[in-house]
Amino acid sequence: MRIDILTILPQLLESPFSDSILKRAQTKGLVEVHLHDIRSYSTNKHNKVDDTCYGGGAGMVMTIQPIADCIDKLKSEREYDEIIFMTPDGELLDQPMANQLSLKKNIMMLCGHYKGIDERLREKYITKEVSIGDYVLSGGELAAAVLSDSIIRLVPGVLNDETSALTDSFQDNLLAPPVYTRPSNYKGMEVPPVLLSGNFKEIDKWRTEKALERTKARRPGLINKGEE
Ligand code: SAM
Repeated sequence: MRIDILTILPQLLESPFSDSILKRAQTKGLVEVHLHDIRSYSTNKHNKVDDTCYGGGAGMVMTIQPIADCIDKLKSEREYDEIIFMTPDGELLDQPMANQLSLKKNIMMLCGHYKGIDERLREKYITKEVSIGDYVLSGGELAAAVLSDSIIRLVPGVLNDETSALTDSFQDNLLAPPVYTRPSNYKGMEVPPVLLSGNFKEIDKWRTEKALERTKARRPGLINKGEE
């Protein structure tokens, strides 16, 4: 899988991809992440990437030219399965969306700033618009990092134990059950005995019950979601 991220702040994205699982995915050659500085595509003599809003009002808008040139260049080099704009008015990111995107080969992500990007870019180039939640961030970089992480950890071979991702929250429309590790007794706080029993049938049953209990208490809307 290849992910190209278009941003005016590439340095902001370097750190999330330089550690832990996202780094390992790249070192193993399973994922390539390329950061593109939109500003370097600007033909303006001061490398401007924004201008005032037609019709007036507060805030700047990202201009078409540098973004269009960057997208055109990338598109001339390979085909993209999705060109995603990170935006609060996009489709809400959830686990099924991450699952679907993890099967793609080439994904482009565009990070907005200021009031957003000129609408004509959205009309001409963008194939998918994604929001990471109903709140407004200053820029799309952290959202692109969140989306990338949710996708990359699902790429086969990235996690040491692939079954781990399948038992995470939201797979099967359930939250994950509680987890415990050593010691079995910490200052009088004990691990549920079933988990120490070695009886895997009983352990599975307990985990399913706890996942259901937790989902009913915290996110009842998730149950039966897949059947809607
Ligand atoms: N004026 C825009 C609006 O009200 O929808 C908000 C612009 S926001 C200050 C700047 C940029 O941050 C957006 O263009 C987008 O790329 C990114 N952004 C902000 N919140 C986001 C969210 N919840 N999900 C994804 N991207 C977001």
